[in-house]
Amino acid sequence: MHLASSELFSSDSFPVSGVVAYFSMEIAIHPSMPTYSGGLGVLAGDTLRSAADEGLPLVAFTLAHRKGYFQQHIDPAGNQTEEVQPWNPSDFCQEESARITVAIEDRIVTVRAWRYDLVGRTGHVVPIFLLDSDLEENSGWDRGLTDHLYGGDTNYRLQQEIVLGMGGVRMAGALGLHVNVYHMNEGHAALLTLALLESQLCGGPIGAATQSDIEQVRSKCIFTTHTPVPAGHDRFSTEETIRILGRDRTARLERHGCFHEGLLNMTLLALRFSRYANAVAMQHGNVSREMFPEFAIDTITNGVHAPTWVSEPIQRMLDEHLPAWRRDYLYLRNAIALPQQAILAAHARAKDDLVAEIATRTGHVLNPRFLTLGFARRVATYKRANLLFHTPERLVEIAEAAGGLQILYAGKAHPHDEPGKALIHQVVEEAARLSSDKLKILYLENYDWSLGALLTAGVDVWVNNPRRPYEASGTSGMKAALNGVPSLSILDGWWIEGCIEGVTGWAIEDGDSDAAEAEALYSKLQSAVVPLYLEGPEKWAQLMRTTLAFNGAYFNTDRMVRQYIRNAYYPVRLLERAPVREEVFAD
Ligand SMILES: *Cc1c(COP(=O)(O)O)cnc(C)c1O
Repeated sequence: MHLASSELFSSDSFPVSGVVAYFSMEIAIHPSMPTYSGGLGVLAGDTLRSAADEGLPLVAFTLAHRKGYFQQHIDPAGNQTEEVQPWNPSDFCQEESARITVAIEDRIVTVRAWRYDLVGRTGHVVPIFLLDSDLEENSGWDRGLTDHLYGGDTNYRLQQEIVLGMGGVRMAGALGLHVNVYHMNEGHAALLTLALLESQLCGGPIGAATQSDIEQVRSKCIFTTHTPVPAGHDRFSTEETIRILGRDRTARLERHGCFHEGLLNMTLLALRFSRYANAVAMQHGNVSREMFPEFAIDTITNGVHAPTWVSEPIQRMLDEHLPAWRRDYLYLRNAIALPQQAILAAHARAKDDLVAEIATRTGHVLNPRFLTLGFARRVATYKRANLLFHTPERLVEIAEAAGGLQILYAGKAHPHDEPGKALIHQVVEEAARLSSDKLKILYLENYDWSLGALLTAGVDVWVNNPRRPYEASGTSGMKAALNGVPSLSILDGWWIEGCIEGVTGWAIEDGDSDAAEAEALYSKLQSAVVPLYLEGPEKWAQLMRTTLAFNGAYFNTDRMVRQYIRNAYYPVRLLERAPVREEVFAD
């Protein structure tokens, strides 16, 4: 069946003839679909939710990930184990009848798509196509290609990236979509450019591609990078690339400067073939331009989808006191005048919900009156989950001064990340060793969408202490801000733009070692956070209102999607000069 654009979209609010096709290796589509691992997938999902809200003609492509990322278990000693999360796409999606093929090594792999319709606030639909190679006509290995998100080795990964990038472009064609913008969310989807180039050549040899063929592809592609360090970029060896993609394609990519230090670099590939590229926070833009000085890399700071991450109690409070927020999140700026009692009461309910859920999950009953810190994120070593334990006596001292302190941890380490797993182990051990009447530390299992929502809404302060400049943006602190929860964070990623000291939270001063930054963290807790918390609810309510007003109004994906529309998808062309006055007053 061919889908005309008019069948895909229930509204035509954008006067354009084609659609934007958004490609992402992971997308957090629905809390019960294990198709994401962390921030990148949540950002992709929030982007699509806002695109649907804004009535943007956009479709998305990802993989089905039939075995999910993984379910995390942590034993009492702090050891992480992983379990697959099999799920059935037909429980959530509709199967499309279209089939396409991609060449991988010397095989032809058939791919189908499952369609999930994301419905925006006005009824506009953004369809998401989940590519799936689990078909009878494929070999056992090929049937598993779309099973595991970030599973396997580079061999598996490159084959998956062929299905995502090249398969996605062909599937868009088979579905009859007229695409005028291809958006690569991170380098995993960069091979879509190769499929576009081949389609430009109409079956001719790839070696014959001219500069003008490449320009044709470039005119349709845009790229968002999320990686602030060279080691984070997706790379493949020449031998592997030749074996999997073939000699001619590899040679073409090599000639076009997509290799760096003998490796196919997916970021370079995406940059070379894009007419527009952006980083995801101001500081990340600076870092990216330093890494890739040949390219003009713009910045569009990330956001989160407000109604997805604002807790029920805060939503009800806003509906009562600031109903306009529902149609336009810029009105959240007026949260500055919310009744103090209303925001305190709504947050207290969110905190109670968190305490109740933790009691159900773990049997631990927290004290809702204690100052409660949250620290939850992917456990990568640069995020330094153990920084608060650098000098444990300091932590105990602060807990005493606060009259009680609770710290909630959560986060998954990638199954192959042994140093990450060791960090979880250390936090669990320290938690057991230090816990007392006045200090309670818990590591919660299986950080995911729903636990993330509970934590960012229910804690009092959101803590983040990455090693600079490794945090491209970070978005969990934005979820907290939309719930009126201030951040205490290293000035990295989005926080450089979001931190107004004492108004939206606090900065942890930069130091030149872990020890110095741990000390800065303790001292900010001791001198600013705890005293304000003890000063009484009025001061805290004031802080919550300014956090929600200043940061909630800006760090959301509605603002972000509008920036993509103006700067990336349909760039606004300004007049070279102001209109000539004489013409205006001609008569
Ligand atoms: C929001 C979110 C993230 C991203 O948070 P960071 O601040 O970038 O670490 C990761 N995982 C889950 C489950 C989330 O909800």
